[in-house]
Amino acid sequence: MSQTAAPRYDLHAHSTFSDGTMSPAELVAHAARQGVAVLALTDHDTTDGVAEALIAARRNGTSVVPGVEISVTWDRRTIHIVGLLVDPDCQVLQEGLSGLRRFRRWRAEEIARRLSKAGIEGALEGARKQAAGSSIGRIHFARFLVEKGYAEEMRQVFKRFLVKGKPGHVRGEWATLEQAVSWIRAAGGMAVIAHPARYRLSAVRLRRLIGEFREVGGCGIEVVSSSHSRDDCFAMALQARRAGLLASAGSDYHGPDNPWIELGRIPPLPDGCLPVWESPSWRLYEVPREGYPLQFHSERWPRG
Ligand code: AMP
Ligand code: MN
Ligand code: MN
Ligand code: MN
Repeated sequence: MSQTAAPRYDLHAHSTFSDGTMSPAELVAHAARQGVAVLALTDHDTTDGVAEALIAARRNGTSVVPGVEISVTWDRRTIHIVGLLVDPDCQVLQEGLSGLRRFRRWRAEEIARRLSKAGIEGALEGARKQAAGSSIGRIHFARFLVEKGYAEEMRQVFKRFLVKGKPGHVRGEWATLEQAVSWIRAAGGMAVIAHPARYRLSAVRLRRLIGEFREVGGCGIEVVSSSHSRDDCFAMALQARRAGLLASAGSDYHGPDNPWIELGRIPPLPDGCLPVWESPSWRLYEVPREGYPLQFHSERWPRG
């Protein structure tokens, strides 16, 4: 691929359908402004924003990759698996995701109960208001707590209230690694380990995660991510090469209120990586002219 013609890929971003602050249409318009040619919408445990993103993409010439970021419990910790090019109408995928959203609803109540024991009332209603109809994540509690003055900013509020050992923490009981990968594959998609350096796994554990992920049919790791340092990117590039996995890249953009992260503003993949978008299974979905959702599913989505 020639340097100048190389499209800019951002394969990890969130909308108001999970914990982002821009609607899918706003996100796609923003991608176009940022010069992103190919944007994956990867909301937590839902693909409900994909339809809107695809319609918006057709309006402004950006390509949208239907995606999802699935919450997984692996070795008693939470890991995220990104699915790219998933068919949102795949029943296996949707049943899996709806189970995770059910857990989210229960967890939200449990977080609120625990916060109330710590003297913070009204958290469920507050988080619900923040989520505005989408399923509730910890970010919605965090925004509520900041608004009420319990902390000054997001990092602080997570650290004080929402992580292990803190009053509002509830242990994740998400999908297994195998389930997440199998749902993504049933939907014709490619499974990628999201921001692997963020989990702070020991070298041995990281190798085990990558090994098990490959065994169940995972195909790539997110080498470039906003939560990775430069060194992390190089280390993850080595991991991908060693394991024979493809490399992905995404900003994990959640909206403009985090000034440190911008859509499309990510470094290029280190040399020696095999980008997911150059693999033979990568095919950009063409938005049908007749309009979504009439013919979203077609033979274009290979199952496996
Ligand atoms: P959940 O899936 O509801 O448990 O929420 C996980 C999300 O919370 C992540 O995707 C991030 O968007 C956000 N998050 C986690 N830790 C932090 C942190 N320390 N500061 C800001 N946001 C965070
Ligand atoms: Mn998030
Ligand atoms: Mn994540
Ligand atoms: Mn994410």
